[in-house]
Amino acid sequence: MRHSNFEERAATDTGKTENDNRLIVVLCGPGGVGKGTVARLLVARDQSLWLSRSWTTRSRREGEPEDAYYFVSKNEFMSMADKGGFMEWAQFLGNLYGTPWPDRLPTDSDILLEIDVQGATQIRKGFPDSLVILLLAPSRDEQRKRLQERGDSKEHVDLRMREADTEIAFAREFADAIVINDSLDRAVSEIGAIIDNRRLSRSKMSI
Ligand code: 5GP
Repeated sequence: MRHSNFEERAATDTGKTENDNRLIVVLCGPGGVGKGTVARLLVARDQSLWLSRSWTTRSRREGEPEDAYYFVSKNEFMSMADKGGFMEWAQFLGNLYGTPWPDRLPTDSDILLEIDVQGATQIRKGFPDSLVILLLAPSRDEQRKRLQERGDSKEHVDLRMREADTEIAFAREFADAIVINDSLDRAVSEIGAIIDNRRLSRSKMSI
C-alpha cells in the first residue's frame, strides 16, 4: 500500500493506523478573499472535516479571536521548525506562518488547511494527493475593500494587493479548482461539493 509522508509521519505522531488515508484539503488564495470565513463555514457543515490551527509570529490584530492562531515568538517558531514540527511553513510579509503536524485529529476526519500559496505549493509537493482549492474575490476592488475593512494601513493593503497578483498567477498553475467568493453560501456549497466528489472518487479507487 502506498503511503504519503503525511501518513507515515502521522502514524507515528497521532496514532493513525496503517490503512488511514485522510484527504488533505488546502484552501489557499491571497488575503482579503474570505478564506477564514469560508474555512469556518466548511467545518461547521461537515463533521468529517477538521480545521488545522496555524502558528504565527504575527501579533494578534485588535478584535481577532485568541484562537485564530497559536501566536508565538520567532524563537518558539524556529525551534518548532528546526525539529520538523511543521507540515509546511512560509514567510509572508515579514511574519512566519506554519501548519503543525496534527496532534489531536479526530478519528476519520479529513484535514482542512487555510494557508497562503507558498504553503500550498509545499503541501502539493509533499502530498500529491491533496486537494488544492484556490479561492478568489469577485473583483480587485472587492478584495481591496475587504483588506481595508480589517484595519490594515494603506501601505500594507497596497503591499498585499501586489503580493496577491503574484500569488494568483502562481496558484492558477497548480490548483485543482478555482472558486470565486462572490456569495459566501454559494462558494461554501461549491467547495463542499468539490470535497465530496474527491472523497467519492478516492473511495471508488480503493474498492
Ligand atoms: P494573516 O496575517 O492575514 O492572518 O495571514 C496572512 C496569510 O498567511 C494568509 O494568506 C493566510 O492564509 C496565510 N496563512 C495562515 N496560516 C498559514 C500557515 O500555517 N502556513 C502558510 N503557509 N500560510 C498561512
